[in-house]
Amino acid sequence: MRQSQLPIDKILAALRKASRHWTSTTLAQITRETDNPFKILVATVLSARTKDITTLEAARRLFKAASTPREMMKLPRRAIEKLIFPVGFYRTKAKNIRKLCQTLVDKYRSEVPETLETLVTLSGVGRKTANLVITMAFQKHGICVDTHVHRISNRWGLVKTRNPKETEFALYNVLPKKYWIGYNDLLVSFGQNICQPVSPFCCRCPVEKLCPKINVSKHR
Ligand code: SF4
Repeated sequence: MRQSQLPIDKILAALRKASRHWTSTTLAQITRETDNPFKILVATVLSARTKDITTLEAARRLFKAASTPREMMKLPRRAIEKLIFPVGFYRTKAKNIRKLCQTLVDKYRSEVPETLETLVTLSGVGRKTANLVITMAFQKHGICVDTHVHRISNRWGLVKTRNPKETEFALYNVLPKKYWIGYNDLLVSFGQNICQPVSPFCCRCPVEKLCPKINVSKHR
């Protein structure tokens, strides 16, 4: 199936319908609890290489102790480490959170910047995090590409790319703009529940008949 023939509207509609039965992502849960861009930014930083439930619990503990950049800066690094443990790389993340709070206070009057170009200058914030913040916190257009989005978009043949950065730029050309904002959340949830990395559950996939399964050598 060539990329131009992939019925992306049908696929995303089927996934949205099926997603009601899947566990939602941490970020979706955080955005249901708050529309505060600062909390969404910090939770996104915490979520890198960390299980969803661990991120959610760590974020809740941290925000109970501090919920603004100024309050966060009052917490010693060790205290932040203790609050966010056992998220992956908790020591580095604690250091980055303090540094980014300092920058927000010093340069942005404690506000979270709304552009990708500025967000990526903050400590611990890469394109993936920045795109997630602009889409989830500000409802601005962007495509957040993590390993799930990269893997699944390639399995569908929507893109043919070697890494998430290439996927992000390829998707800007082939994915209709109306899908950009929700694409990450939908595919992360789909990737965690059905289209898993090693052996996807094709037998219970709602888009099995539409999927060319590119480079899928083993499935259930
Ligand atoms: S059919 Fe399999 S490889 Fe294709 S999207 Fe579904 S789970 Fe993923």
